[in-house]
Amino acid sequence: MQYDVTIIGSGPGGYVAAIRSAQLGFKTAIIEKYDTLGGTCLNVGCIPSKAMLDSTEHFHNAETTFGEHGIKINKPKADLGQMIKRKADVVKQTCDGVEYLMKKNKIDVHHGVGSFVDKNTIRISSGKENKEITSKYVIIATGSKPADLPFAKIDKKRIISSTEALELKEIPKNFVVIGGGVIGMELGSVYARIGSNVTVIEYMDRIIPTMDSTMGKELMKATKKLGIDFKLSHKVTSVENKGKEVLIKAEDKKGNTVDFKADYCLVAIGRKPYTEGLGLENAGLKTNDRGQIEVDEHLKTSVDNIYAIGDVIRGAMLAHKAEEEGVLVAEQLAGQKPHIHYKLIPGVVYTWPEVASVGYTEEELKEEGRPYKSGSFPFKALGRARASMDTDGVVKVLADKETDEILGMHIIGARAADMIAAGVTAMEYRASAEDVARMSHAHPTYMEAVKEACLAATENRAMHV
Ligand code: FAD
Ligand code: NAD
Repeated sequence: MQYDVTIIGSGPGGYVAAIRSAQLGFKTAIIEKYDTLGGTCLNVGCIPSKAMLDSTEHFHNAETTFGEHGIKINKPKADLGQMIKRKADVVKQTCDGVEYLMKKNKIDVHHGVGSFVDKNTIRISSGKENKEITSKYVIIATGSKPADLPFAKIDKKRIISSTEALELKEIPKNFVVIGGGVIGMELGSVYARIGSNVTVIEYMDRIIPTMDSTMGKELMKATKKLGIDFKLSHKVTSVENKGKEVLIKAEDKKGNTVDFKADYCLVAIGRKPYTEGLGLENAGLKTNDRGQIEVDEHLKTSVDNIYAIGDVIRGAMLAHKAEEEGVLVAEQLAGQKPHIHYKLIPGVVYTWPEVASVGYTEEELKEEGRPYKSGSFPFKALGRARASMDTDGVVKVLADKETDEILGMHIIGARAADMIAAGVTAMEYRASAEDVARMSHAHPTYMEAVKEACLAATENRAMHV
């Protein structure tokens, strides 16, 4: 079979690249080694983790806020098996949706491991049969896998990655998380809400360290209320599966050894690009020392007809980043001139309160020596937040000191994940803080905090604090 565009990997990068390629008139194929489409995001990432976060948040509210809302119930009991079953249903519906989209767009789906025979030929090995297809262009979208530590190999039993953490058979009594990043905070919250004693061991002196430092501070305050214990500036030195428990040793700032015991230890220290079995060398490609496939600004590899997108290349490992890159490559192949503004790709942590960020952090502006002003507004001053009992949180807006152009927006609070789209829109149009402050925002909404933070950044004239 001969195709115009073949995509290896059906995650959010790959399947979106396939749809856009088909929309633009290319004869398109997608290769996926697993039985279901959707990649990490749909099967073991974004979607299942959000399903578990939603279920456990309902449980947490039933336990903690229903009474005050005037809803009387008997003490709720968490049914982890049912939560996981519902999660599996959500995943199935979402993966089936991608299957439907492939059919609708007349994209040929090949199941099996795709590997290069040469730069235009790909062998697909499924165990049942091997076949070869040829393609004018190839897009590599093979994603990533969990990283581990040399002394903390993921055994999938007691020393686990996010994949196993989404499938546990029991609620752990003690759950240790190595890494206070996005996965650590999301899945740590899941188990803390349903009764586990959760300890987060983080190497740096703050959690979610790539985000604006105000966000990490506020998230730590909020999640301590769930009972999460934080061990910052701790370097894990050994992790041992002792059969029924895991023994973890870490070194604190002073060099003292601290011991932890847990039923399960989640290793959440990042992910690494995945290229195993791709036969890159047969196409004249290799990975860099970080395991990534190198690409130029057009996402083209060093081989003329081969492109790469998503987690397997540089940049944030985010589904929506992979999607934008899939669209960019397809449109370029069709002769268009698309552009991605990488600084305006938002990042979200789906804890409660949620954390969402776009643009420069305060630390980055300081480092660049760029003059800026900052305006903040707390959720507790919002009528909407009091009504819903979601008073934890703050919106922080950073704007250029001279021009007032918004340079960064950082939100922790209820529905921050949805609110950040307003920040992206404003910044894509290079709005000033005053532009946003002068727009009408419906009352009562959480978004009023964005307007007020912009007022605070403009002339320090927030109205409701
Ligand atoms: P992937 O989604 O990893 O897909 C790659 C696909 O390629 C896989 O299906 C794989 O089987 C296939 N493949 C690999 N090699 C071959 C081969 N040789 N032949 C055939 N097929 C192959 N991001 C967000 O933006 N929001 C979130 O809320 C979020 N939550 C997450 C939660 C968790 C627990 C995890 C682990 C990740 C989360 N992410 C989230 C990150 C997100 O899942 C990734 O950034 C995204 O999936 C990357 O997409 P991709 O298309 O590059 O690769
Ligand atoms: P991460 O990079 O977000 O966090 C890893 C954390 O582990 C960091 O805080 C880091 O300082 C810490 N760390 C690293 N080595 C350590 C060590 N030896 N001991 C203790 N701490 C250590 O990575 P993650 O949470 O594993 O997530 C992986 C990827 O998946 C991320 O790139 C993220 O973008 C993506 N993801 C996104 C979402 C989302 O968008 N909501 C959710 C989950 C995952």
